[in-house]
Amino acid sequence: MKVAVFSTESYDSQFLDASNTSINVNHELVYFKTRLEPKTATLAKGFPVVCAFVNDDLGTETLKILAEQGTQLIALRCTGFNNVDLKTAAQLGIKIVRVTAYSPYAIAEHAVGLILMLNRKLYRAYNRVRDDNFALEGLLGFDLHGRTVGIVGTGKIGMIFAGIMQGFGCHLLGYDAYPNAKFEEIGDAHYVQLPELLSQSDIISLHCPLLNETEHIINAETIAQMKEGVMLINTSRGKLVDTKAVIEGIKAAKIGYFGTDVYEEEDDLFFKDLSTSIIQDDTFQLLQSFSNVVITAHQAFFTENALNDISTTTIANITEFEQGKPLTNEVKSSQ
Ligand code: NAD
Repeated sequence: MKVAVFSTESYDSQFLDASNTSINVNHELVYFKTRLEPKTATLAKGFPVVCAFVNDDLGTETLKILAEQGTQLIALRCTGFNNVDLKTAAQLGIKIVRVTAYSPYAIAEHAVGLILMLNRKLYRAYNRVRDDNFALEGLLGFDLHGRTVGIVGTGKIGMIFAGIMQGFGCHLLGYDAYPNAKFEEIGDAHYVQLPELLSQSDIISLHCPLLNETEHIINAETIAQMKEGVMLINTSRGKLVDTKAVIEGIKAAKIGYFGTDVYEEEDDLFFKDLSTSIIQDDTFQLLQSFSNVVITAHQAFFTENALNDISTTTIANITEFEQGKPLTNEVKSSQ
């Protein structure tokens, strides 16, 4: 199958090419670095399959151009599909497939990485030693052993995160709209209601999806219920957190540490090298300026294992389409 791959970085072609050759299907993958949007959609002329990523624009206009040019399948190499106009795609007869799951260890382990960065101030220590400053003043940390960790969302990632934190000797509190009996089978783990989790936890880590009811689940009111000096970790979705309320919480010393891999307005920033640009987002710049904040740019998923899962599933999705088989990972317009 001829596949036009958009928003390609070197790691995308590396992993997709490896999966393509390893299962001997040999689709013809043509890589475009550019983002897919109406003005770039003509690049896909003559390609029955388009492969796209999270920030590609698959709105009405792009889909119409793709359909006129003969595209029949869009293979998303991500789980989310909020950037696709599913109704228009269905009307135009374009099928959408996605990667439903990939290594949850990647995200859980990254959340733990953020905790250790903040807890032991590793980001400051690294820079200090490179500057021949070997003083310990200002690097005082605390043991994780014996601390209480609150986990909001105990699904695939939250459960793995819980197991790792249990290994550190932490007490675990969980909150989930749909509790999972397996969580309480982990030693010293209990479900509680959200207010209790907020008021009892030394570290709070978010692992629930972004839904109407979870948007800004961390806001001025919920921050007020937290312990003084709490550590807040978000590797889930930026909009779970009201960033301005977090900034106020940091300034008031209510939030003692904030580690995040996601940001409410990340679409304009993340996945790009803006090192020679002037960042216009004042909220982001203010957040960055605090010495007790660590931000990574949506890289929690970025492990060899997860990229391998993503590329293998993407190639399998395209192969099913080529062979006229039922599409295991199809996204229907009612989803
Ligand atoms: P999952 O579906 O296995 O688990 C989500 C859990 O949240 C479920 O147990 C669900 O019952 C629970 N939940 C649903 N509504 C809730 C609510 N209102 N309050 C509390 N809990 C609620 O998902 P997962 O694979 O564990 O992924 C979790 C999240 O991680 C994803 O939604 C995504 O936003 C994020 N994620 C981030 C990255 C990254 O690179 N940073 C990568 C993949 C996923």
